[in-house]
Amino acid sequence: MKRRTFLLAFGALSLSACFAQRDATPAPTPSAAAPAPAAPAAPADRSETFLAPAVIPAEITRALNDGRESFVPALERVIAADSGGFLALVDKKRLLPADYVPADLVPVGAGRSYVPGREGLSLRREAEAALERMAAAARADGVTLVVSSTYRSWEYQKKVYERNVRELGREAADRESAMPGASQHQLGAAADFGSITDAFAGTKAGKWLAENAYKFGWSLSFPDGYEAVTGFRWESWHYRYVGVEAAALQREWFGDVQQYMIEFVDAWKRR
Ligand SMILES: [Zn+2]
Repeated sequence: MKRRTFLLAFGALSLSACFAQRDATPAPTPSAAAPAPAAPAAPADRSETFLAPAVIPAEITRALNDGRESFVPALERVIAADSGGFLALVDKKRLLPADYVPADLVPVGAGRSYVPGREGLSLRREAEAALERMAAAARADGVTLVVSSTYRSWEYQKKVYERNVRELGREAADRESAMPGASQHQLGAAADFGSITDAFAGTKAGKWLAENAYKFGWSLSFPDGYEAVTGFRWESWHYRYVGVEAAALQREWFGDVQQYMIEFVDAWKRR
């Protein structure tokens, strides 16, 4: 198999995450005249090394490289399964266009296992279905999930952000509210639960979600202590639907930090 090196990040910052070729075995030279028969389910190339986006700590990148024979196929499975595009990278540096509206929004309404906090909420169809499964499981455990905010249009986000800037000042507003285009809520796959305050973490619902959300494909977007990574202060109430397989990948390989996984997937797809 051809020796390949994937460069997923550039610049001096990424050098710390650069691992030298450790497999000294020379790769066989491919021959056009006599192509090798296709090997069924070939394991990942041992000589394949990659850099990760600079945001990912060196020890995680090292583990991805060390485990690439199982990591790469798992990653490829997650990417292949994501036909809905639920792994899009959106943050303060990667903005959605003003006219981006998800095509398959459905109401987050009455008659479900969760409780809508107000009228007019919506999510993408697959995210809402996963939310319902999660809320039914929570309910079976005696926990009610109140959904406070879901899809927000670019225009709506602009109003929220401008109000926060007026009330808190720009610096404080930027720590917890996204400028228009930078919000996961515009994806139609993020939900805020309960009070939308720090107190939520200590509630039954907050604890239940922290422990169980991944089983239903939901992932905490802005964990405690990762403001420099995500751009947002801790939001114990804000979850994003990424899919069950991706949530498992995030836990197993990315230290359960959503931003690491999403940035890696984005870079992998563009390599
Ligand atoms: Zn939110």
